[in-house]
Amino acid sequence: MRQKIVIANWKMNGDKASVANLAGHFKSGINTQAIVAVCPPYVYFQQLQSLLEGSEIMLGAQNVNANTKGAFTGEISIPMLEEFGCKYVLVGHSERRSLFGETDQIVAEKFAAVCASGMTPVLCVGETEQERESELTEQVILRQLDSAIDQTGIAVFAGAVVAYEPVWAIGTGKTASPEQAQSVHALIRGRIASHDQSIGQKLRILYGGSVKSGNAGELFAKPDIDGGLVGGASLDGDEFAAICLTAG
Ligand code: PEP
Repeated sequence: MRQKIVIANWKMNGDKASVANLAGHFKSGINTQAIVAVCPPYVYFQQLQSLLEGSEIMLGAQNVNANTKGAFTGEISIPMLEEFGCKYVLVGHSERRSLFGETDQIVAEKFAAVCASGMTPVLCVGETEQERESELTEQVILRQLDSAIDQTGIAVFAGAVVAYEPVWAIGTGKTASPEQAQSVHALIRGRIASHDQSIGQKLRILYGGSVKSGNAGELFAKPDIDGGLVGGASLDGDEFAAICLTAG
């Protein structure tokens, strides 16, 4: 039985006051057996780390640089994240891929670097609307996944997380139907299982794309959906707590 995971991605939102407010809401309102993590903007890491002390809610990062240190202006390294108790790191979020030019190769290098650390990578994959309409979903998802597998080998997937986030569903209010999501999740698990059956069974696969309390239950009930990566709805304390509750 895979433990469910729900991750909040605050993206580039919030200020000190809203971080304090949401952290308070999350600490008092979240009641779940699932693992819960929050990815704030980096500048709020220290604040959130101290606000979450004493709770089981973990810190996550929205991105990382694969290099350990050096002349990479504006970037944040793995050791820096680890110093703040960060446990989860998103790599290859579709906004990183589309707005900041992250290729499959860059994402694979980040994935490998996080795998080599004590943190858990969350490898984000997903097709655009045009790719879905052109029936390229399977090809795109497997290409993104294979690029990471080629970089690291299969063993690391036993401890990794993959997030299926159809680009057309992110921040649009259009959620993939539970059946659409399940079919891509099964594809992902099948690909990993084709390398190693037992690792395929262990892999946690999250769904992301306009998850709300009203649709989370149906999505999380699907056999290959192990929780969610939540953007917009994670900026509302009650809504995010309700999503976490549906995860068990
Ligand atoms: C995301 O950014 O990972 C995401 C899924 O956003 P939203 O929930 O707003 O669609």
